[in-house]
Amino acid sequence: MIHKKYIDVAVPLPLDQTFVYEMPARLEELWTPGMRVLVPFGRKRLTGYLLGDHPDKPGFKTREILELLDDHPLFPENQIPFFEWIAQYYIHPLGEVIKTALPGGLDRRDVSCAFMTEKGERALGSGEAGPDEARVMEQFKAREGIRLTRLSRSEIGPSVLSLVRKMEKKGWIEISAILKKENVRAKQEKYILCSNTEPDPSVRMSKKRREILNIVAESGEISLTGLRAKIPTAPKLIRPLEQAGLIKIELRRVFRDPLGDPVEPDVPPELTREQALVLEKVEADRDKGFIPYVLAGVTGSGKTEVYMRLAARAVEQGKTAIVLVPEIALISQTERRFRARFGERIAVIHSMLSPGERLDQWRKICLGSVSIVIGARSAIFSPFENIGIIIVDEEHDSSYKQETGLRYNARDLALVRGKMNGCPVVLGSATPSVQSFQNAEAGRFVRLNLESRVNSNPLPEIKLVDLKKYKDFRGSERIITPELAKEIRACLEKGNQALIFLNRRGFATFPACNDCGTPLSCRFCDVTLTFHKGASHYKCHLCGFIQKIPAVCPECGKPEIRDFGFGTEKIEDMLKAMFPDARLARMDQDSTARKGSALKLLKKIRNRTVDIIVGTQMLAKGHDFPSITLVGVVCADLSLNLPDFRAGERTFQLLAQVAGRAGRGREPGKVIMQTYTPDHFIIEASKRQDFVEFFNNEAPFRKALEYPPFSRMIQLKISGKDPKKVQAHARTVAGVLNRLLQSGSKENEIRIMGPIEAAIPRISDRYRWQILVKGGSATRINHLVRQMKEDPGIKPVKDVRINVDVDPYSLM
Ligand code: ADP
Ligand code: ZN
Repeated sequence: MIHKKYIDVAVPLPLDQTFVYEMPARLEELWTPGMRVLVPFGRKRLTGYLLGDHPDKPGFKTREILELLDDHPLFPENQIPFFEWIAQYYIHPLGEVIKTALPGGLDRRDVSCAFMTEKGERALGSGEAGPDEARVMEQFKAREGIRLTRLSRSEIGPSVLSLVRKMEKKGWIEISAILKKENVRAKQEKYILCSNTEPDPSVRMSKKRREILNIVAESGEISLTGLRAKIPTAPKLIRPLEQAGLIKIELRRVFRDPLGDPVEPDVPPELTREQALVLEKVEADRDKGFIPYVLAGVTGSGKTEVYMRLAARAVEQGKTAIVLVPEIALISQTERRFRARFGERIAVIHSMLSPGERLDQWRKICLGSVSIVIGARSAIFSPFENIGIIIVDEEHDSSYKQETGLRYNARDLALVRGKMNGCPVVLGSATPSVQSFQNAEAGRFVRLNLESRVNSNPLPEIKLVDLKKYKDFRGSERIITPELAKEIRACLEKGNQALIFLNRRGFATFPACNDCGTPLSCRFCDVTLTFHKGASHYKCHLCGFIQKIPAVCPECGKPEIRDFGFGTEKIEDMLKAMFPDARLARMDQDSTARKGSALKLLKKIRNRTVDIIVGTQMLAKGHDFPSITLVGVVCADLSLNLPDFRAGERTFQLLAQVAGRAGRGREPGKVIMQTYTPDHFIIEASKRQDFVEFFNNEAPFRKALEYPPFSRMIQLKISGKDPKKVQAHARTVAGVLNRLLQSGSKENEIRIMGPIEAAIPRISDRYRWQILVKGGSATRINHLVRQMKEDPGIKPVKDVRINVDVDPYSLM
């Protein structure tokens, strides 16, 4: 009997199981877990992920895998339990989890194409085909096969697909699945090598060719790009040299370098006493495996230096390090600092890389040619086998939470992965999250402190300005108060830089009819549009809908839209008028939409070619600009009153972070914080940059209302195009949850809240309802939601989606 081998495969489909396939003998020697395979699935072919041996012969008929898609695994086998944990905890299919983890663009999937048959051609020629059928077939004259999705967009309209099916039955058309080409390939480069064989006299040896031979002989081998830099016409000249056996040309895989500027190597500074103490403490625990640390270090206390030393130690022990950083801080400086210290030993992962660059970085990690990864949230999936430490910088940052698809939190996953790998995890921040700090208070995390700035620079002095005093002032004085203006002037006179912060972009944020007062709203979302003066249009910040100017009132039709409310663009305008000689720049999502523009702006600030920088939270995070001495906060309470239990926490973090941008160089910094609620505890705590004070005020409130970290939550987001169906389905889901809750006796500490309509009831023309499942145990609420999903009472409703958000970050 022939010995057969069975393997487990995860496929990226919304299915809660893995599948068993047979491994054909021809591939037997080649496969390892972590590779992608092409498998038959129903009538299609799919990319799956090879998980490992399936130990026994399954009791059903299995199919063979068709192809092995990799020659090297994309992740190590010991990462599979981590993926399985994620799938379980976030209630998300395993194949989709792995797909999210891997760099994008790798997927191979079938596309259905239609071809015309000979019979079809005859039908077209003889006039047997009706007018619509003829119109469809006409399209095949120009091209061989046409994707069905393309056809449906043709002039015939949505009925084209049923028409095509009918024509398929008549034998006029054939539909077959062909493989879409892989989008992304590893980059290859030609290398020219010296060859030993005797020269062939038949090749004409021009001066240029001789030169090429000399260069190749001298260097032994050289890339074509390198050669072309010396002799621009080289690509045309080398082929005959190869044919004559003078050189060899090889295709080799190369790594694209995502870096622009060259980085000078640095010399590690002498540690401050506090930094040294922190490192000693972690070092002392070295053999204890997983330990979670909270590194609370004020802004400018030198946390990055600590991270670099910790990473270096892991590497010295022959292990690897993962360093997570919020994206914007990453591109501005963290990458540069790590690059200066570790050179080629790091890989970098963030969304500004092209798919090809990402793939290259990923392969470098897989092949073990780097030992440190620094990256944004998705870097937590880095395919390292032997992790020595995981570091999460600015651990409180909301960018660690992914808000679509697999809604994971990379900060939380860092802890899970650290535990599985038995390595320490360091969560660093100047403003630790309530969750992490509570864990430290409860003794679950070890606290590490950096209480003073490097070089003992003082923290900036913060002054509050009560905006109520200015509410009757006219024009820009209501917004840039005389007190703030005076400080800006003083700052400019000294030749320093000022940062003006407002967390709202655009020019006018509340356009409304001057006559009847009706606001100008998005056609697809329940929010008002924002006026963008530079782009001359109104834009929806949720769905991107754009309305050209001039706009008319949607209610009374009068063309008198007045632009109330203000964003960064208007602040920039005002400052231009007030300080005509100052050089201004603005940094927000609008001004940095193009690739590379954020980097350019940050460089301008660093090179001091701007005097005043206006910006949103992009500017508040993690940057180290020594010549900023003044920070102005235009309106500190903007995000304070949002209907979200974390509104206070977020506001505190943002204010403390933005204040921390001031006074990082030699000169002491100053912060002017304008606010309508100077007595609010959050404003007071941020004035003192005292997160312990903030925490002590915030924690009792969270506890009383049973909000995290004193409870666990899963939010179910129900949405769809038909408001009645959405509401009805939300009711059904809540009904099933309540029924399950009553039948299981242990679950009675769980509470189901809702369904309620979401705070923004409609986004992108989808109506939104929510249900909140709250309880003391993550496992129990997870179990309940799983039970609900499998309950026969939940029947799929067309066009209505249920998204599961475990540990939701924002409840809106
Ligand atoms: P944080 O991340 O805590 O806000 P940074 O890591 O940005 O602080 O450090 C602030 C500045 O201090 C940086 O310019 C950094 O190069 C410098 N620095 C850090 N550690 C030392 C040290 N031990 N000696 C001298 N300079 C240091
Ligand atoms: Zn919209």
